Amino acid sequence: MKAIGFYQHGEDLNVLQVLEVPEPTPGPDEVLVRVHYAALNRLDDWVRRGWKGLELHLPHILGSDMAGEIVAVGSDVEGWQVGERVVANPGWWCTHCEWCERGEHSLCRSYAIYGEHKPGMYAEYVTVPARNLVRVPPDFPLEQAAAAPLVYLTAWRMLFTRARLRAGERVLVVGAGGGVNSAAIQLAKLAGAVVYVAAGGPEKVNFARQLGADVVYDYHHQAWWKAVYSDTDKRGVDVVVDNVGEVTFTHSLRALAKGGRLVTVGATTGPRSNADIRLIFWKQISIVGSTMGSQAEFRAAMDAIFSGRISPPVDSIWPMEAYPEALQRMLRGQHKGKIVLRVADEAHR
Ligand SMILES: [Zn+2]
Repeated sequence: MKAIGFYQHGEDLNVLQVLEVPEPTPGPDEVLVRVHYAALNRLDDWVRRGWKGLELHLPHILGSDMAGEIVAVGSDVEGWQVGERVVANPGWWCTHCEWCERGEHSLCRSYAIYGEHKPGMYAEYVTVPARNLVRVPPDFPLEQAAAAPLVYLTAWRMLFTRARLRAGERVLVVGAGGGVNSAAIQLAKLAGAVVYVAAGGPEKVNFARQLGADVVYDYHHQAWWKAVYSDTDKRGVDVVVDNVGEVTFTHSLRALAKGGRLVTVGATTGPRSNADIRLIFWKQISIVGSTMGSQAEFRAAMDAIFSGRISPPVDSIWPMEAYPEALQRMLRGQHKGKIVLRVADEAHR
């Protein structure tokens, strides 16, 4: 079967290849899924470049998000049938460690992510444990379903489980281009929060408004941490979502109200912070980390989407073979919403 991945890590996109690899066989607790659509994530870029300590079985297949249909079920799988349309939680967990027993799947001591530590979803066929699946309703487009798993799962846990965002609270999302931030804007609005966004440039400002943001600052022209402070009568916001990291961390602390929570799932500008610790204790701020999420959180996030309460924005759809061009679009920050790969047409089954 065809898949997208690489035989060696590299900064350069020319290490990416259309791979010809054997079709996987489902284990007893797994299903085999024919992939119709897959979606790009920033994680793809980190994995291709590689980092010290990352040891992958090569060639490595990229991709964490897919939607498709079940074509075979393992011997121990119950409750799933061939032909069902599904998405999958992109995390892998062991089911029996102390964190798994508490339902905290993304804290599993053996936790792994499809496309990162495990072979990914940019392939004609993939195997995933049946415990990871959620059904896609018959009338829901698979290209939009494929855009949902990683970012909405991540945003759901980050906002509701970790930062405990509640209706009526004020939340500031730093950045609007990335998938997690876009999902966070939509989910925060759905939860009844007042949503402030710092976005870069007029197109991203408009995009944030389309997603439901109440107040949007253009960080090319405005010191958003000062603007949000004055716009909240010098109170600040209850929650800041900061996945930018090094460049913005101290500004985000300044934007918080007393007793506020800063939540982070990433650090795109770098991992080091010179945070002013006085701000943390004087304002009694909580700094909260989050990553991915449990199957219960995945079900909740997918339910918000499949019931039509929020709609994942799709930027563009590309043939699987055009993955390097699609990735270029993401790396240049030109996209608004998820970039999707067409792996097989539903009509062709
Ligand atoms: Zn575990």
